[in-house]
Amino acid sequence: MAPAATSPNATPAPVQKGTPAPSTLSKRFGSRVILTTYPKQSGVEPYPLNWAAEDPDERGPVIVSRYGKTMKYRNAIGAHGGSYMIYNALAVAGGNLDMDFRPSFHNTEPVFDFPRQPAWFDKTKIVAMDPFGHEVQTLYKKHLDDGLDIRPSIAITRATMRVAEISEAIKNDVLPVDGNIVLNRDGDVRVTKVAVEPVWYLPGVAERFGLDEGTLRRALFEHTGGSWPELITRPDLKVFLPPIGGLTVYIFGPPEKISDPNVRLACRVHDECNGSDVFQSDICTCRPYLAFGIQEAIREAQNGGSGICIYFRKEGRALGEVVKYLVYNSRKRGGDTADKYFQRTENIAGVRDMRFQELMPDILQWLGVKKIDRMLSMSNMKHDAIVKQGIPIYERVPIPDDMIPEDSRVEIDAKIHSGYFTTGKQLSEAELQQTRGRGWEKWEDVAH
Ligand SMILES: [Zn+2]
Repeated sequence: MAPAATSPNATPAPVQKGTPAPSTLSKRFGSRVILTTYPKQSGVEPYPLNWAAEDPDERGPVIVSRYGKTMKYRNAIGAHGGSYMIYNALAVAGGNLDMDFRPSFHNTEPVFDFPRQPAWFDKTKIVAMDPFGHEVQTLYKKHLDDGLDIRPSIAITRATMRVAEISEAIKNDVLPVDGNIVLNRDGDVRVTKVAVEPVWYLPGVAERFGLDEGTLRRALFEHTGGSWPELITRPDLKVFLPPIGGLTVYIFGPPEKISDPNVRLACRVHDECNGSDVFQSDICTCRPYLAFGIQEAIREAQNGGSGICIYFRKEGRALGEVVKYLVYNSRKRGGDTADKYFQRTENIAGVRDMRFQELMPDILQWLGVKKIDRMLSMSNMKHDAIVKQGIPIYERVPIPDDMIPEDSRVEIDAKIHSGYFTTGKQLSEAELQQTRGRGWEKWEDVAH
């Protein structure tokens, strides 16, 4: 084991002279590299994992670690941490993290016990997260005490948040201070937060997309550079922890009300847009709609109902920021009109949207949502995915016109034309050509 870095400024260990000497490698990882495993191979003894079983013991823990004695009990493919699994690997490679490290879960338990829902035990309702992911510390304590490396994939905490638009709404008496949810006129708001890492039950995911499991496994294997051979060699392993971002639920008001069918629920399902959400770019409606969603969720909670905002890490319609900025360039240089809005993305990404909302409703099922009274979203894809999963939506609430930045009209008009919900006007093809975004001034572009 290489010595741990002694100061936060220390350069991470090896890297100076290329690959570490084989002796260093074998000491830390063993000389034998297991590229993949096969069912019934000697020493391979997957711990039974019966997805959707009601009894946590019968269901069994999700075991994915390749370390030490845990390796032979693995019953899932991939690794914990979503895309952060790579940083974890780097920390081990650099000697900053002992590969045998076991977390102490003392005091990490959820701050709220979400009541178990029938959907937790239904293979068609929850396929993209582990319904027991927040209770690993207690449900599988015996296994942890036995030295197996098992990790939670859900964490539940409480906090106070302050969002500029909400402070403004309080100042303008759009929202009152109630001392319980909205704490003061500065805009401090109490919130319960649920962070979820994706855990996929592959047969269920395949079914949701109308695929056979073999096709799904092969595509995941081939198009991730062959990263997980067990997708192909271990059809007996049905669970995969994909290296993608997860989601966070922001809950306003008492969490127990979410699953109460007699209580009103306001819900915003939001997909990440860092440029707008955090840095307030004016090219889209993401942050204004998010702020409106939070405001209306708080309002519903203050009226005795419940409000949730679910934030999915699906940057740039799950195409990522690099593709997104390439699209911005092609829009701004090509005459940014609403009629060509989707075409610009299709030219570069091959699709107009890669978010595939099919798996999104799982979190609603997990929370026990029975119906949504006010859906703060205009997306037909989100609406259809939720309704298809048996959760009715009673009212759809578009973003108010006065919250739409001028330069984002191109996006919103194109989306409305393509099927997004509106209570306003749907523009004709000819009118879309007239919806034009702000062009670039000379200083914003380089000469080619
Ligand atoms: Zn955006």
